Amino acid sequence: MSNITFTSLALAEPILRALTEQGYETPTPIQAQAIPHVLAGQDLLAAAQTGTGKTAGFTLPILQHLLDKPLSNRKAGQPRVLIMTPTRELTAQVEESVKTYGQHTSVKSMVMFGGVNINPQINALRKPIDILVATPGRLLDHLNQKTLDLSAVEILVLDEADRMLDMGFIRDIRKVLAVLPKTRQTLLFSATFTDDIRQLARGVLTKPVEVSVAARNTTAERVDQVVYMVPQAHKRDVLSHIISESGWYQVLVFTRTKHGANRLAEKLVKDGLTAAAIHGNKSQAARTRALDDFKSGKVAVLVATDIAARGIDIDQLPQVVNFELPNVPEDYVHRIGRTGRAGSAGSAMSLVDRDEIKYLKAIEGIIKRTIPQAPTPTGWTPSAPNAADNAPRPPQQRRSAPRRDGNANNGHAGQGRSATTNNRSGAAGSGYGASTNPGTRSGPRSAPRSGPSGSPSGAPRGAPRSGPSGAPRSAPRSAARPASRSSSNSR
Ligand code: AMP
Repeated sequence: MSNITFTSLALAEPILRALTEQGYETPTPIQAQAIPHVLAGQDLLAAAQTGTGKTAGFTLPILQHLLDKPLSNRKAGQPRVLIMTPTRELTAQVEESVKTYGQHTSVKSMVMFGGVNINPQINALRKPIDILVATPGRLLDHLNQKTLDLSAVEILVLDEADRMLDMGFIRDIRKVLAVLPKTRQTLLFSATFTDDIRQLARGVLTKPVEVSVAARNTTAERVDQVVYMVPQAHKRDVLSHIISESGWYQVLVFTRTKHGANRLAEKLVKDGLTAAAIHGNKSQAARTRALDDFKSGKVAVLVATDIAARGIDIDQLPQVVNFELPNVPEDYVHRIGRTGRAGSAGSAMSLVDRDEIKYLKAIEGIIKRTIPQAPTPTGWTPSAPNAADNAPRPPQQRRSAPRRDGNANNGHAGQGRSATTNNRSGAAGSGYGASTNPGTRSGPRSAPRSGPSGSPSGAPRGAPRSGPSGAPRSAPRSAARPASRSSSNSR
């Protein structure tokens, strides 16, 4: 945090009051750097990822601009500010921030994304709005239906621009840009500055000021990370055990597939934990409900696919779990960026099958450090193996398919595993810590491999085994579930 205060940034009293109510004391570095330039009317190219406070970095000066230059005759369906974001969740959360910071002003905002009925949006556009937060696909639908007029836009924000490009939105963005006034202020936020982002920036920004906070990987440095080597087939059992034993009260678990997210959530619930899955196949209402339950503490474990989780913004999420490692290493950084926010320490645990070691290496390459490996906790009960668990991973694939509606996870790599069976990890029941549980189905069919496959036998060479033996690292606060089943060395 810097020495700059919100007051010294010349923000109006209603905005300052809202910030005080939020408990914000000082601007984060991105806010301290960006706000003066935005207030001065300059275009901005900002390198900042989720968790840095970037949303307030653009929202606060935008609110200030609207307060400074009120319009007497605001027209319906003509926003003065357009904020484009890649996903429905992020769109909703950015608009929530706008509402929070603008609660003591008369600024009107609106959220717009696909996958929901368009009619309520059309109705909302019949009233004057100041700030529109939208995903590119649904925005275009409204433009095509002429229910939206962007000719009065004074400020354009491209939030998480790298993600929008990643998700194939470039053509939609260009179509939207074509109908925006040429004279406007444009702010582009991106976690990474790839060549594509630079090219986009050249096309949309005029003499931008460049600001940058905390290089992309600094999150990785303040998050306590650990790897457990666990065969894919046993991950659900091991994770359920770890969560039960640790008493984690708020844990976000990333899975590679929607199906995997569902199966894991079902398993956790069956084991007495409170869990919900969130992914692109769920209705918007179901996703919102799951997120609300997670935020309010009603649900301790939220299982999410990468894209569905992208917009989740929860203060100081204490614990993130990678049920599988992402095959795009940058996604690891984004995932663990969900914890350790706003300077607080967080904890990220990864369950890694031997097949995933190549992903682990790639991740360690980009975060430039070795992730400590700890012995896999014992004391868990193996379930019967399932063919789908042992199927080979799908081929590596980067996201490329355009998602017109900002719908999370459509076309995400890793959907629909092959049903081919591969019993390489059929080691359940081999005695590594498995405890008896009357509820458990009959044992696994296949013979165990030599040695306990729950141990780091498939570990990357030379990886340190620091940390308490087999212990999840975050300090438990309140139990995520009722009484634990057995004591083990997982403490
Ligand atoms: P963002 O990077 O915009 O997703 O923000 C990350 C989190 O930091 C959000 O939950 C904000 O509520 C919080 N936040 C933003 N600005 C501040 C601030 N100046 N002080 C404390 N927390 C903040």
